[in-house]
This record gives sequence, structure tokens and C-alpha cells, in this order.
Amino acid sequence: MDLRTESPFWLMKNGIVRSYPSIKQSYSTDIAIMGGGITGALIAYHLTKEGIPAILLDKRKIGMGSTCASTALLQYEIDTPLGELSRYVGTENANKSYLMCIEAIEKIQNITKSLKKEVGFSLKKSFYFASTQKDAKEIKSEYQLRKNIGIDLDILSSQDINKLFPFSAPAGLLSKDGAQLDAYIFTHELMNASMEKGLKIFDKTEVVEMNQHKRGVELKTNFGQTVKAKKLIIASGYESQGYLSKKIVDFNSSFAIVSEPFEAKKLWYENCLIWETARPYLYMRTTDDNRILVGGKDVTFYNPNKRDKITEIKGVQLKKAFEKKFPDLDFRTDFCWGGTFAETKDGLPYIGKVAEHPNTYFALGFGGNGIVFSLLAAEIIRDSLIGKKNKGEEIFKFER
Ligand SMILES: Cc1cc2nc3c(=O)[nH]c(=O)nc-3n(C[C@H](O)[C@H](O)[C@H](O)COP(=O)(O)OP(=O)(O)OC[C@H]3O[C@@H](n4cnc5c(N)ncnc54)[C@H](O)[C@@H]3O)c2cc1C
Repeated sequence: MDLRTESPFWLMKNGIVRSYPSIKQSYSTDIAIMGGGITGALIAYHLTKEGIPAILLDKRKIGMGSTCASTALLQYEIDTPLGELSRYVGTENANKSYLMCIEAIEKIQNITKSLKKEVGFSLKKSFYFASTQKDAKEIKSEYQLRKNIGIDLDILSSQDINKLFPFSAPAGLLSKDGAQLDAYIFTHELMNASMEKGLKIFDKTEVVEMNQHKRGVELKTNFGQTVKAKKLIIASGYESQGYLSKKIVDFNSSFAIVSEPFEAKKLWYENCLIWETARPYLYMRTTDDNRILVGGKDVTFYNPNKRDKITEIKGVQLKKAFEKKFPDLDFRTDFCWGGTFAETKDGLPYIGKVAEHPNTYFALGFGGNGIVFSLLAAEIIRDSLIGKKNKGEEIFKFER
């Protein structure tokens, strides 16, 4: 698949952080991880911490799939509002999903603290506003549902919003739990930490054939060498749909722009994450080098040629939408890109085993919370491998 346009901001900013060798001999190992994006990196980090031997293979360079195109807002708020999610998966599982995402943000923060380099992580409040008067009703019921399960948030009236922001909205939710980071550099730092604990990484190495047996898995690579493993973890992002007979995702194209750096450090109220009830939604965040990122204007197709052709136009539309909300900020576009984006029906990830692939786990963190879901996937799969119960296993399994 062609996952993104050429020049996402963090890829341009950081460049090729590190190259790894391609595979040159065949190996036997406990765990083979297919995919070196943020999901594969978090899985490798969790497994090597447990002393589990693993080999990671990526057909591209590390982090150069969807991960480097990610705008990396970390939110407990799943694209499907809590009330709606309850109708899909039941109240108990919906509540648990929201609460697990809050915990996941805290766990990501702890991981970033253990790494040797800064990865652009900071905690941020998250502001979710009603795009229309009609959506103000949804805001009120969401507030109550979230409050009932102990989520720390405030409901804002239109007057409150006018005091905090230069734009109006009929109502909004201001949540304490949110964060942001540089997903690309985070992925590389996780790989460094995992290598120190014994992870072997091969990039430019594509898995071209998978043979799953009763006692393990044999992977054939594009170079002819093989990797035999007791278990395989498929963390190959949106391309993983190709290994499943059942369709579980819908593909969209999404767009983002990043401004030149501003001199002022405070660009709006606590530089919080901002998004809205409309679908597709417009969203905004700041960066650790004082820029503004605006994303959205999604279209419901996967067609890389069409996506690339309209990226510049989408960039202009995003800038206009931003200027309408923040007329006093002189937004000068520095970077503009587009990427494929996948969503599931209920907004939750698919994590775990599938009958058609023995000895294999899938870690598919699809949706706007992809990164938070990647952390959950890493924990669920690690726990399954070490025989520990994980409350997410049932919620995010394929047969739900
Ligand atoms: C524009 C945009 C904005 C986004 N914004 C957010 C956001 O604000 N917050 C958020 O949480 N998420 C966001 N996401 C989603 C998030 O970026 C993804 O969920 C995440 O990057 C997926 O990571 P991954 O490691 O699963 O996939 P990838 O990064 O795509 O990594 C998978 C890797 O698998 C490799 N691979 C595939 N097939 C094979 C094979 N056969 N052999 C070997 N290797 C293989 C690929 O080369 C790739 O490097 C956004 C995504 C986009 C595109």
C-alpha cells in the first residue's frame, strides 16, 4: 500500500534517524514481529523487557509507514463517543475501553521517561467542542456518562468557551487526560532501548510468505532467508487487512498541516488538544518547537494518486478553517501532507488471535487513537505470552 505523501513534518524534521541491516542469514527465535512502526516498537519494548527473544522485520525503514505521518495526539477519547460505544459493545466494555485509554497515556508517559532522548512528549488537556447546536445535547450526555465512571473533566458553556478561546461553540468538554508526542522519534527510541535488551532488527526485509504450523511459524523474506519463530506478531499497520479474510476496516485519506514556529510559547488556552463533534473532525495541537498542527478534512477513499493530487488543496482548506477559529494567529504553512487512515465500525482496535492463523497475534490499533491502542496491544500480547490475564483481551478480540 502507498500509506502517505512524501513529506510529513516529523519525518522531515528528524530525517532517517537510523538504518538497520537487511536480513543476511536465516534465524530461529521465540517471537517474530512483522512491522517496525510504533506498534511493533512498543511490542518489542514490552517483550524484551520481559527477556523474551525477538526479531523484528520491516519492509520499509523503521517508522516510515503510517507512524511518521501521524499527528500523534494521545487521547482517551475514542472517535466513537462513550454513549455510542456502549450501544456497540455494551456499557461495561465501553467504560473499560475509555478507562484503559486513560491508563495507557500514563503508561506511555512512563515509558518516555525511561528513554535516553526526548520524544516530544507532554501532557495536555483535551478540549472537545460541539460543532453544532444539536451536538450540544450529546456533549451534556457524554459529560454525565464520563463523570459517572470517574473521568476528570469539566463541561463548558458557550460563555465559558468565549472566555477561553477566540471562537464560539455551543458547549464543550475539557478533559484533563491527554498528551502529545513525536511518534516517529518515539519509535526509534523504543527500538534503541529494545536493541540494548537483545532485539534484532532488520529493515528493507519483507515477509513474502507465512507458513503457520501447529508448533510455530516460518516466515520467508524477500531475500530468501527465513525466520522460524514459536509465535508471530503481525504489527504491519493498515497493510495487515491483507492477511485477514474478513474485512474489518474502512480506509480514508486524512490531511495535516504544520505552521512555521511562533515566537510566543502560549498559542491558546494551555496549548490544549482541540477537536470537535463533527465527522470528519477538524483537530489542532501545538508542537514542542512552538508550531501549530491542524488536521482533518478526511475523504472516504483510499486512492494514493487522488490523495496526493488533492493534498495541497486540503492544506489550504485546513489553513482557512484554522484562521476562522484563530483570526489573530498568523499561520504560515511550513509542511503539508496526507496519509491513509483506517477506521473500524466501533472505533476499537483488533488485538489477539484469529483462527485462520495459528500461533499468530494481530496488533491492529486502527482509528484516531491508534497510538494509545498500540500500547494496549503491546500489553495484551505480552500478557498472553507470559500467561497473565489482561482485561483488554476480551474487549478487543476479533470475535466481538
Ligand atoms: C495523518 C494521520 C494522522 C494520525 N493521527 C493520529 C493521532 O493524532 N493519534 C493517534 O493515536 N493516531 C493517529 N494516527 C494513526 C497512527 O498514526 C497509526 O495508528 C499508527 O502509526 C500505526 O502504527 P503501526 O506501527 O501499526 O503501523 P505502521 O507505522 O504503518 O507500521 C507498520 C509497518 O509494517 C511494515 N510492514 C507491512 N507489511 C510488511 C511485511 N509484509 N513485511 C515486513 N514489514 C511489513 C510496514 O513497512 C510498516 O513500517 C494518524 C495517522 C495518520 C495517517
